[in-house]
Order: sequence, then structure tokens, then C-alpha cells
Amino acid sequence: MSRFLLPRFEALSPYTPGEQPRGIDRLIKLNTNELPYPPAPAVREAITDQTLCDLRLYPDPTGRSLKRALSGLYGVGENQVYLANGSDDILYFAFLAYCTASKAVYCDVTYGFYRVFASLVGAESTVVPLKEDYTVDVDALCRAEGTVFLANPNAPTGICLPLSDVERIVASDRDRVVLVDEAYVDFGGESALSLLSDYDNLLVVRTFSKSRAMAGARLGYAFASEAIISDLERVRYSTNPYNINRLTLLLGEKTVENEAYYKSCTDRIVKTREKTRKELLDLGFSVTQSRTNFLFASHPKAPAAELYRALKERGILVRYFAADERCKNHLRISVGSEEQMQVFCAMLSTILKEFI
Ligand code: PMP
Repeated sequence: MSRFLLPRFEALSPYTPGEQPRGIDRLIKLNTNELPYPPAPAVREAITDQTLCDLRLYPDPTGRSLKRALSGLYGVGENQVYLANGSDDILYFAFLAYCTASKAVYCDVTYGFYRVFASLVGAESTVVPLKEDYTVDVDALCRAEGTVFLANPNAPTGICLPLSDVERIVASDRDRVVLVDEAYVDFGGESALSLLSDYDNLLVVRTFSKSRAMAGARLGYAFASEAIISDLERVRYSTNPYNINRLTLLLGEKTVENEAYYKSCTDRIVKTREKTRKELLDLGFSVTQSRTNFLFASHPKAPAAELYRALKERGILVRYFAADERCKNHLRISVGSEEQMQVFCAMLSTILKEFI
């Protein structure tokens, strides 16, 4: 820290991203919920010499083509679509627009960035504990005052709230924004999109990083009332109007045109997830009912920290949240390809013998 940093940032405790090691060809990387499959062939073919030459030009700051494609795919108005450089940016802009020196509400076990953004914008946070079984306390969220940030399905638990409960939260106070972070919805979650026409305080945030195999390209999108979208545009045009690069905009559009390919990828992940879950249960783990591309698991006899280390020594990387009291005996395991998960389960079974 330099002596120039303002005091208000000194106390900031930044988000710790999952490890992104080099030489991943030699690793089984199950730690940041990426898709194990590549982007669709048409997406890969879109990068031509011409598209690279065009990088000399600024991108379209309105992202009109991609917005049109998303509006067509999801049946919402073009003015109800927002684009950003990863969905983290959308979360940040929402905190900035609605929570600066104001109030934010989120669960204790959820996406770690909510706490960081709240502290960055000086929001007063109400942290609502999940219930004992890691499900969301809907009544407590309804009662709490302030902008709500709800990951659904939740991370790292993987558990999904039914639409009726999400609606209860959105309806509990129409004078506050309820942001539903649907980063993992394509793996079997129930989307809040259908509520959009009834609630002008709903903001649905999504990403191309998980189900669309584009974590490296950085592309997030959101749906909301035109008024909320215009709030976010106001913030974006006050920071970086060219926030999405030309290549990412183009690849995003090609991705939307190839929905069937991605649906087949998410179907495969769901199948592999259920098979892996069963194997983990057979090995004595308790595993939440995930509707995402990861599993949240703990073992009564084998501490998560030791499993994490033993797996890492053998070239398998999973996510371990050492600092979180309610998660520190759990592993979050991204669902990789069928073959990767077979190796993972076999390795885990061998490691477990040391503990049982
Ligand atoms: N929301 C949740 C719940 C996440 O797990 C992540 C990924 N870490 C994000 C948002 C952000 O994803 P991205 O910025 O890659 O779109």
C-alpha cells in the first residue's frame, strides 16, 4: 500500500479469485466453474484476419447487434438488455448506482464479491444467514431493508430457489431493486426472467462465462425494466463506454446464434453432475442438490483442507474457501468432462482411504 491511498480503501479486503495456474494441460481444473468444452465451431471460425485487422477501430459502444440477438433469444425488448465486460462489472455498477452510502442485503454464504462491492461503495450491509441446510431464508430477505443481491442458483451451495420464492422477495418491496444473479441458471435453475413484465424493480444478471464457454472473453448481460437499464447505462457511459472489445461482441453474437450447441453442452454437464454426485454420496460425502455446474460437498471424516491439498498434489484443482466459517469444511468442485470426473472420483476414492 502506498502512502497516497485514501483511508477509505485501506480497510478494503479484496475478492480472491480462484487460482488460474499455468500449464493447465497437465491439470484437471475444477476450481472456477468454466465449461470443459470449447466454444461452438462457428464462434471459433468467426475470428478471421479481417476481424483482427478491425481491432484498430473502437467497438460499437451500444452493442446493438448483440443486444438485438439476446432480445430475440429471450423475448425481451432491446431496451431491456444491458451488456458489460463480465457480469462482475454489472454487479459493481448496480452496487454503485443503488447502494453507494446506502443499504445492501445479501446472504452470508453466497458469491464473495457482494461483500467486497458493498465495502467498496460504502454500503451498509445486512447479511442474512442461510438456514442450517444452506437454503435461503426467504422471509428474512423480504424483511431486510435495502437493495437485494441474490445469486440463484446460489454459489457456492448450488441450491436453487423456486420462482415463487424469488417472486416473494421481488414483491416484498417494489421500491427497492432486487438483483437476481443467474450466472448458473443454464444448468437447471429456474429463471426470474418471466417476472420482468410484472416488476420494474427486478434486475436479472447473467454471464457468458459458464454455460457459454467464454470466461476468457469477459461478457456479462442483464435484463431489467428500461428505467433500470438506463441507470446502468448512465454509470457505464460515465466510466468506460467501450467496455466490451470488438472480438468479444462478435463472438457473443455468434454464440447466441448457436444456442443448440450450448444446450447440448449444458445437458452433458447436468448428466455428469448427477453421476458425480451419486459417486460422492457413495463415498460418504454430503452433497447439496446442485442446479449448477459445480458440487458443494463435505465429508464427515476427511477435512476439506486436507482433501484440497491431496487433490492438488495429484494435479486436480478444486475450490476451497479457507476463510469462510460455514464453508471451510466443504469443497466446491466444478463439473468437468465425463472423463475428468471419472479420474477425479477415482483419485478421491484413493485419497479417502487415508482417512477411513
Ligand atoms: N456471479 C456469480 C454467482 C459467480 O460465481 C461469478 C463467477 N465468479 C460471477 C457472477 C461473475 O462472472 P463473470 O464476471 O465471469 O461474468
